[in-house]
Amino acid sequence: MGEMKPVLPRRYHRLREVLNRRQTDLTVLLEDVHKPHNFSAIIRTCDAVGVFSAHGVYTEGDVPAFSETAKGSQKWVDIHTHPDLKTAIGHLKNQNHTIYAAHLTENAVDYRQPDYTQPTCILLGAEKWGVSEEAISLVDQAIYIPMFGMVQSLNVSVAAAVILFEAQRQRLAAGQYNQPSFDPETYDRILFQWAYPDLAAMYDEAGKPYPALGEDGQFLIEN
Ligand code: SAM
Repeated sequence: MGEMKPVLPRRYHRLREVLNRRQTDLTVLLEDVHKPHNFSAIIRTCDAVGVFSAHGVYTEGDVPAFSETAKGSQKWVDIHTHPDLKTAIGHLKNQNHTIYAAHLTENAVDYRQPDYTQPTCILLGAEKWGVSEEAISLVDQAIYIPMFGMVQSLNVSVAAAVILFEAQRQRLAAGQYNQPSFDPETYDRILFQWAYPDLAAMYDEAGKPYPALGEDGQFLIEN
């Protein structure tokens, strides 16, 4: 597959440290969150908390572009878009996620109440319109962040951060960041993609398995 410069050992070990803490069963579902800086800030928070993949539904327009705010975090969080809300929620429920809509409504519970150590998805609503009625009818529970000010809502990326860091707090206490949540084969595959994204794409295109890597991320055999 041609000459490829090996990844620096320090970077390879850093990638492993981050991948070891990725949570495959903690995610967000963004419902038409369309402003690039909000979308970017949420993905950056997902990276910080250890969310492995994030989901979005864009019925009102295109998936937003990433802005400077993302700081490159989009390379480390898998982003899935779905054609509509029903498909997205069906997909996440099939993976046993409980779906919580961040939404200030009468029967919402305080965001600190749920058990986020279980497979969890946080649905966040559009900047202007909030969470749709359809979403409310499909989710398991609404959650709210108590507000004591004059303004009735938080910026969506701030709300996402508050809730995701509560999930992080609970998962840290439960020891869920202590071991990788992937099977070894998946772990090695993702690590290769993170360390050598261009090469991984070439192997994918050729339909070939990735080569094994050494302790420091070096190639063990000639490609
Ligand atoms: N006018 C919208 C409404 O009535 O819902 C405000 C939308 S708010 C700017 C964008 C999103 O941030 C909301 O849909 C919700 O997901 C989240 N959010 C903001 N403040 C929140 C709070 N205090 N509790 C829970 N979610 C909140």
